Amino acid sequence: MFYQRIKGDMKMVITQTEEESLFFQYLDFLPAPVLLTRENKSNKNSKTLFVNKAFIQSIGYEVDDIPDHVSFMKYAYPDANYRHEIEEVWINKSTQLANHKTSLVQFCSKVRCKDQQDRWFEIRTELKSTIGQGVVIILFNNMDKAKKQVREYVELSRKDPLTQLANRRYMNELLQKEKRRQSNQETEYDFSVVMADIDFFKTINDTYGHAYGDYVIEKVAKLINQHTRKIDVTSRWGGEEYLLLLPQTNITEARIVVKKIMKYIHEYHFEWEGVICHVSLTYGITGYRKGEDINDTINRADHCLYQGKERGRDCIVTDGLYEGWGT
Ligand code: GH3
Ligand code: MG
Ligand code: MG
Repeated sequence: MFYQRIKGDMKMVITQTEEESLFFQYLDFLPAPVLLTRENKSNKNSKTLFVNKAFIQSIGYEVDDIPDHVSFMKYAYPDANYRHEIEEVWINKSTQLANHKTSLVQFCSKVRCKDQQDRWFEIRTELKSTIGQGVVIILFNNMDKAKKQVREYVELSRKDPLTQLANRRYMNELLQKEKRRQSNQETEYDFSVVMADIDFFKTINDTYGHAYGDYVIEKVAKLINQHTRKIDVTSRWGGEEYLLLLPQTNITEARIVVKKIMKYIHEYHFEWEGVICHVSLTYGITGYRKGEDINDTINRADHCLYQGKERGRDCIVTDGLYEGWGT
């Protein structure tokens, strides 16, 4: 015997030749997790031969824990649906490869590790054994950090840094998604959009300073969010302009929501560094009309807002219907 590890499946690590011994030592030396299996033609449940030290360190299982393919799949993918999905990916990739010279399968998946944490790995394997006697080598590349970073970047790219609201680009995506969802529904349902803009904001900036203006923009964002449901989305559409998406809401219901927001902002005591100011907004409301371009919906809400500004501000215009504050 040339090589054995203190823990793990001794039998499998016992090597016959110096070359084999060197090979296992080499795998243990590799920083990437490696799993060696041997195909079992009789029951298609391949046997686990070896896991290297990096595998034990980052994924946790030893050969005794995952003696065969079925047990590895059960532990690594405890959720039956996800496991099924992974198996499908595997089958599809293998079928695609059947007609090609290469037999490299490569995909990314979330693996449940022995410490019960889920980590992302890129998994690569040669389907056709390249090291003889049906032995298949499976390489794992830890993608957890990269995945987390991508998720953070995506989050950042969707947010407005001042208010933490959805930014205009993300709101556009959400509106398109809502349109698609609506057209997929068998029973029609409504959604409304609201364009809201702070009145005489330039005067607020000029009178109290830009930092005070920022405080007002941020506060208004919070106040709107406090008076909408979880499924509603408020975005910062422009400087002091907000676009709201109210799913499953017709324009009559949207008017009720906006009236509530209007009242709350009217009565709110805006105060920052001892300076008090009164803030009002003008609101334009419209409903999505089945089949139309979402930009037409946005433009209609914008037009309603414009009409409200023309009528003297501090009001709600719903598809041409005017309602001033206190009416
Ligand atoms: P109206 O009632 O018609 O909406 O008039 P308004 O003064 O609110 O609108 P106007 O478009 O004339 O001015 C908006 C101002 O908002 C101009 C711009 O300098 C300011 N602004 C845009 N973004 C920001 C921001 O992030 N912070 C601050 N403090 N001001 C901003
Ligand atoms: Mg304004
Ligand atoms: Mg504006």
